[in-house]
Amino acid sequence: MASGLTPQHTLRGWLLNALGEMGGSAPTARTLKHMEKRYGASLSSEDHEGTERDKEPKWHNRTRFERKKMERAGLLVPARESRGVWTLTEAGWHEFRLAQDTNAASRVSAGAEASPSLAFPRIPKGDESPSRAKETTQRIVRSGAVADYVKRVHDYSCQVCGTRLATPTGAYAEAAHIQALGRPHDGPDVAANVLCLCPNHHVLFDFGMLTISDNLTVTDRSSGASQGRLREIPEHRIDRQYLAYHRAHHCGPEPRGGVAGPGS
Ligand SMILES: [Zn+2]
Repeated sequence: MASGLTPQHTLRGWLLNALGEMGGSAPTARTLKHMEKRYGASLSSEDHEGTERDKEPKWHNRTRFERKKMERAGLLVPARESRGVWTLTEAGWHEFRLAQDTNAASRVSAGAEASPSLAFPRIPKGDESPSRAKETTQRIVRSGAVADYVKRVHDYSCQVCGTRLATPTGAYAEAAHIQALGRPHDGPDVAANVLCLCPNHHVLFDFGMLTISDNLTVTDRSSGASQGRLREIPEHRIDRQYLAYHRAHHCGPEPRGGVAGPGS
């Protein structure tokens, strides 16, 4: 049984994970309930004690406090805009994914299947419109399958630069959603909306510093210079509508030349 108050940074990790698992947003009560279901066993009797002012458990108030800090850090949509629905921003989704990847890496090093099998993976069905209210486990399994497929089919090599990071537990790459999953983007969790990227290009892409035209020219937005072409393979076609969404989101309406490249 845990003792003492759960540290703030732990609550932060739980909150981030809970929101990610619930599809990126949920009202306060549902978020707290999900956290309790997930992590209740780790909460101490002190966490459950009611505060003097109201009778709410301390860990509720301390999670609310953490929510505010995460809002200031840009990880959550400001409460007044989201009307009390706790909602991950794109930066919040990025942090969630990083945590997921870290967890996956440590699971692998703990002895699970270390390297991908040689059998060619089959394309997973994915989910055209991932529900914001689906059950936790379902969602994780599904998004994991799409991300895994894209990474494996590219043999963990970045589609922009070709980098393949070798680690003691196998190659490492990140699955980047082109049209972000969270609100307000509501992109689908399907392979055609995912890229296999190295961590650097993932960050640059999420912040809109890299854009990709319909003919797959990669442009560095800070210099306007072309970075070559994105690698596309027959087993993993990228739906151009998501690239267009990404460009429009970060660069404004097209066409204006310079950013999107010819043909788009
Ligand atoms: Zn790269």
